[in-house]
Amino acid sequence: MVRVVVLLCAASAVWAQAPKPEVAKRTAAARPKLVVMLVVDQMRADYVDKFQSQWKGGLKRLVDEGAWFRVAAYPYAATETCVGHATISTGAFPASHGMVANAWWDRDNQKMVTCTSDPNVKNLAYAGGTTKGGDSAWRMRLPAYAEELKFQTGGGTRIVAFSLKARAAITLAGHKADAATWMDTATGAWVTSSAYGTMPFVEDFVKRHPVSEDYGKTWAPFLSEGSYLYDESATGVGTVDGWGTMFPHALRGKETGSAPDATFFEQWATSPFADTYLTKMAEAAVDSLGLGKSGATDYLGVSYSTVDYVGHTFGPRSWEIQDILARLDKDLGELFTHLDQKVGRGNYVVALTADHGVAPIPADMQKTGFDAGVLSLPELKDRMEKALEPFNYTKPTIARMAGNEVYFSPGIHEQLRQNPAAMKAVLDAAQAMPGVAAVYRAEELGNGTTPISQARKAAVLSYFPGRSGDLYVLQQPYWLTDSSAEGSKRYTGTGHGTPYYYDQRVPILLMGFGIKAGEYFEAATPADIAPTFGVLTGVTLATHDGRVLSEALQKRSAK
Ligand SMILES: [Zn+2]
Repeated sequence: MVRVVVLLCAASAVWAQAPKPEVAKRTAAARPKLVVMLVVDQMRADYVDKFQSQWKGGLKRLVDEGAWFRVAAYPYAATETCVGHATISTGAFPASHGMVANAWWDRDNQKMVTCTSDPNVKNLAYAGGTTKGGDSAWRMRLPAYAEELKFQTGGGTRIVAFSLKARAAITLAGHKADAATWMDTATGAWVTSSAYGTMPFVEDFVKRHPVSEDYGKTWAPFLSEGSYLYDESATGVGTVDGWGTMFPHALRGKETGSAPDATFFEQWATSPFADTYLTKMAEAAVDSLGLGKSGATDYLGVSYSTVDYVGHTFGPRSWEIQDILARLDKDLGELFTHLDQKVGRGNYVVALTADHGVAPIPADMQKTGFDAGVLSLPELKDRMEKALEPFNYTKPTIARMAGNEVYFSPGIHEQLRQNPAAMKAVLDAAQAMPGVAAVYRAEELGNGTTPISQARKAAVLSYFPGRSGDLYVLQQPYWLTDSSAEGSKRYTGTGHGTPYYYDQRVPILLMGFGIKAGEYFEAATPADIAPTFGVLTGVTLATHDGRVLSEALQKRSAK
């Protein structure tokens, strides 16, 4: 009790000589007018180091005028799109926000569910397009920073998010938003859901700019030939239908000369035209809604998906990756110029980061002499099931392999826990498969067992009871997993999703209102962005998995 009184006295003593009224007023008003959250899907951290000399636009401006966190990395294992975006958006790790993968095995219904699939909502297509299903953020167990901003600052905040991917737009926006818009890449339709509702400006924009207008265009090199860092014939086998491994890439669908088809939309999503389109859509949102002009702090989230599609197809050492970033730099330069004019330079704050990095193409890595490869999940499943045969469990013993997660059929995991010999047999079988580094059991990840390695610690941060698998299989570095029935021999591109550094390392660049420019070598994770925006906007988040990047914030000097 005494202690409380002392504290109260100390507090009132501070207030007695506290800021003059006008100073307090100025401080209260000092908030950014607009928060801009930019995510470049699969942009690995080293792309900034390697390619910034070729940039002249927005990426360059972020490096020059912003705070660049040079050693930022995700600390968890599930380095996938939905997980990364939810982390950026909530300021928490998957063990807290529950978005453990792009898709996981729903044990109750014995089927795969995507992180945004919602049986209680219906997707709505703009401009007469077609789509199916229903998506929302209902599986995200924490509010997005954007939602907290709206909730805690009087409700005037407009929340707008765009991406090609539902799992990116939805996680950035949160459970409710003024506009959360993504693309149904099968039909080419721009889509939202009944969780959000349609917005007239999106309808208008999509009608005025149909994606089919880009039909027949060609993606040719943007930079001069000598600017590309790697050999154009470097490994990287195009898996986009109708495209070869080398430039140029024509956007002509499956058969040259036909009308826009699903293949065209896939090509378009893998081309720079998609990034430009999203940028223009974001600018239309700023203009139509008057973002940054209402007196409240508005929120604009844009996730550029194309770098991910390009990276999966051509690999991180391709001309295409370098090219798409040089073009994105140009688009972002235009976006920032637009924001300077409409919102005012210094009135908005921007963060740019990525949801995950990427591994080199295994065949490319093998050229270095290192052991790299592709781990076939069907084969791994086969080996584990065979190892359990002598124990006479009801088959199938494994319900699903999903990425690194193994889900046993109902009841099997309980029986294995009571039969150490059977558990050992299945773990040994997995461990013996070439390319497997370790196998972790759910019991080890979920009950707070002290992590004995960085990789296991990363798996703990990804573990969410009920959603994560019964086992987590960690591949060796530079190994990918492949779930296709055709087997690993057909695998030509690359991927991500491991606790290895190439998947965890991403850039964090902050710029604008309240940000102190410079290079920062302090440890940081993308979960730090939301709490940092939190202090700039006077918003408190529920969890503190992330920290405030205070070293990059301007401090008001004492009066
Ligand atoms: Zn990806």
